[in-house]
Amino acid sequence: MSSTYALAIHGGCGNVARGRFNAEQEQAYLAALRESLQAGEHLLKQGGSSVDAVELAIRIMEDTPLFNAGRGSVFTHDGKQEMDASVMEGETLKAGSVAGVTQLRHPVSAARAVMDHSTHVMLISAGAEAFARQQNLEFVTSEWLFDQTRWEQYQQALAEDRQFMDHASDDQKYGTVGAVALDQNGNLASGSSTGGITNKKHGRVGDSPIIGAGVYADNRNCAVSCTGEGEYFLRDVTAHRVSALMEYGGHNLKSAASAAMASLQNIGGTGGFIAVDRFGNIEMPFNTEGMFRGYVAEHEDVDVRMYQT
Ligand code: ASP
Repeated sequence: MSSTYALAIHGGCGNVARGRFNAEQEQAYLAALRESLQAGEHLLKQGGSSVDAVELAIRIMEDTPLFNAGRGSVFTHDGKQEMDASVMEGETLKAGSVAGVTQLRHPVSAARAVMDHSTHVMLISAGAEAFARQQNLEFVTSEWLFDQTRWEQYQQALAEDRQFMDHASDDQKYGTVGAVALDQNGNLASGSSTGGITNKKHGRVGDSPIIGAGVYADNRNCAVSCTGEGEYFLRDVTAHRVSALMEYGGHNLKSAASAAMASLQNIGGTGGFIAVDRFGNIEMPFNTEGMFRGYVAEHEDVDVRMYQT
């Protein structure tokens, strides 16, 4: 049955395996996902736009230190938190993104402001923050963004001279967030927000703020938001690939999603994505042990999961 509205979110993927979290931690993750979905659904039910639902769902996850986005973002090699975010609208193909911002409470809202109030698509670092100030967006201190667990992960990464991906099988860093939505006007939207990877160097930027790689939305096809080893999603242009497979390859959402996952896997990439089409069909494939994820739709209750089944 098709739905007039639908919303799916992810909170990152990786070694999210049974036995790795205690019951209290599981409940905390699932409750955070549920809260984000419920807020987004409330908006969509009342006729709100898909892009508003995506932004709101992501803002809620950015405020949760459980996820690697906004508060609780991972640390760079220099001990900073550099965040990336993006949004895209499927009706107009308008998009906005920011990379390397360090003091914003809601990077996703900065990305939205770039889309809505600038003539550009992507702003970075100090320039992005100067623009955010002009837009009266909320700034926070490093102390506010700080999370002890992320700091300890950073110390470990420094000691081992490694860069930790959220999804790596031998560590415990999870949490890039993303959302995709269909609204009652038939418009699709997607968004993403992340601190990137622990111990990243030299201004590294992953796929999350790159339109086509980490996010894409096109009303004719689907809206997609990715999570995983950004370098592979960049090379495989994963989010756009799903849309292109539908547009040019005659695929429906399900087969496009599985073909895009196969393509990613073929070059050695690990991770996953969430996707919704204009009928409200939802796909959430991943090739890691788990992915924090959930969805809700017109005829379906909120469903949140973290393990494979
Ligand atoms: N894709 C993100 C990045 O590479 C990380 C993640 O999804 O966990 O920056």
